Amino acid sequence: MPVNYPSEFQGFAITDPKDWANPKLTSFQPKNFEAHDVDIEVECCGICASELFSLKNEWSDAPLKCLSSAYGPKSQVVGHEVVGKVVAVGSDVTLCKVGDRVGLGAQCFSCMECPRCKSGNEQYCPKAVGTYCAKYADGYVSQGGYASHVRAHEHFCFPIPAGLPSELVAPLQCGGLTVYSPIKRNIQGVKDPKVAVIGIGGLGHMAIMISKALGAEVTAISRGYSKKEDATKMGAHHFIATSEEGWENGLADTFDLILNCASSTTALDLDKLLPCLKVNKNFVSVGLPHIGEVFNVRPFTFFSNGCCIGSSKLGNREEIIELMKLAVEHNFRPWVETIKVSEAGVSEGLTRLDKGDVRYRFTLTGFHEFFGT
Ligand code: NDP
Ligand code: ZN
Repeated sequence: MPVNYPSEFQGFAITDPKDWANPKLTSFQPKNFEAHDVDIEVECCGICASELFSLKNEWSDAPLKCLSSAYGPKSQVVGHEVVGKVVAVGSDVTLCKVGDRVGLGAQCFSCMECPRCKSGNEQYCPKAVGTYCAKYADGYVSQGGYASHVRAHEHFCFPIPAGLPSELVAPLQCGGLTVYSPIKRNIQGVKDPKVAVIGIGGLGHMAIMISKALGAEVTAISRGYSKKEDATKMGAHHFIATSEEGWENGLADTFDLILNCASSTTALDLDKLLPCLKVNKNFVSVGLPHIGEVFNVRPFTFFSNGCCIGSSKLGNREEIIELMKLAVEHNFRPWVETIKVSEAGVSEGLTRLDKGDVRYRFTLTGFHEFFGT
């Protein structure tokens, strides 16, 4: 099916969360092309666990937004670790040009005018729009990067340094940025920082490498021992399996940051984890579980060290550009298994990620061959 670009894009879409594992090839209308918009011809796209939650509709009590969208597709394409080539730019675009290789993560729009946008916190802009499953002000529901093309505001199209292979740089666009931002914001200026990373999956494995590159002593915390050897190869100095009785002994007052990258809270024992922080330090949870899950923690647990629990969303443009530079300078790369894009390939990637059968990120590749772009 040849792509009728620019009037139509093609992508792998679902209409019913029950079919989450089997997105079907679909043609769809992109959003209206605005003056700051950029069209990216997709080369490859990572698969993030957020896509599983979105496709299964596990982050919401309401039906899929696209089903009630004011205009645009009544089906949903996901994908938000995109690398591709700029093929069209709006009249006011200055940050990239046709032919550039760019990355796009999980955010495709913000207002650029509010205090948050103006202070390097555009990911928290009240008008922010996510790259997929999110409503623009005009009612269009954003469609992601498991597609021939994706349309986004120029601010969220990031220049990629030469020398970083596309399939390896794709996971940095969401997963990498999501961990880089809180690691940097929490350990900058700290002498000999110690960071613990919980949940050694897509985000967690990048968090180990990034923490190490930023000069931290890193402890990987996993549910069992199966990832110990890999975590050591990624640069972790210590490894903890929480299946081991008494794992927390001797760790009081140790970490400057605990970064939780686990996709579920069910195995988190916060009453044991939080005392491992130094005074007034942070437990930052980037993991976003099923909407029904909660944190369980005793208020008295905070009493011993005055620690805090918080979260962090994505990161800003400056941070993703810094992160890609850091990857070049420190020569670290996400551990990627590539899968050729097709209905079967998308299904395989999602199904295996759902089972935890990934070491440590999938990138869908072969978009040009598949879409004839
Ligand atoms: P992965 O599936 O690749 O990794 C998640 C890890 O969590 C697993 O490797 C595992 O680590 C641990 N885990 C899995 N199941 C459970 C369970 N039942 N209980 C406890 N731990 C479990 O996911 P990603 O790295 O792609 O994403 C991680 C989380 O981050 C997701 O919730 C995702 O939605 C969220 N996310 C948040 C963003 C943000 O801006 N805050 C942006 C992007 C993603 P181990 O085997 O070592 O225990
Ligand atoms: Zn993501």
